[in-house]
Amino acid sequence: MTVITGITRGGVEWTPSFVITIDQERCIGCGRCYKVCPREVFTLIDRDDLDTIEDDDDFDDAPGMVMHLADALDCIGCAACSRVCPKGCLSHQPSAVAA
Ligand code: SF4
Ligand code: SF4
Repeated sequence: MTVITGITRGGVEWTPSFVITIDQERCIGCGRCYKVCPREVFTLIDRDDLDTIEDDDDFDDAPGMVMHLADALDCIGCAACSRVCPKGCLSHQPSAVAA
């Protein structure tokens, strides 16, 4: 598989690591990832609005806000969000070059 790569001004090749998922059970809604992200990837939502994990009783009881992937395809793979997340919620991986 050929993955997407970039090149620095100094000519060094690097491999972007794109955000794939947020562990919303671990997320504390601190907003650090949102603030550091240069793109429109994240949005904060109310936990009550989550419908994907509504069967998890413990999680349903957790109060407040939680981060959500609004547009994962807008990610440029800089991984800054994971450097600032205090809970290790975000997972990343390189992406294949589109055929
Ligand atoms: S990897 Fe960079 S662009 Fe992608 S979501 Fe994280 S901070 Fe935003
Ligand atoms: S930085 Fe981590 S804990 Fe904070 S809102 Fe983002 S995903 Fe949640």
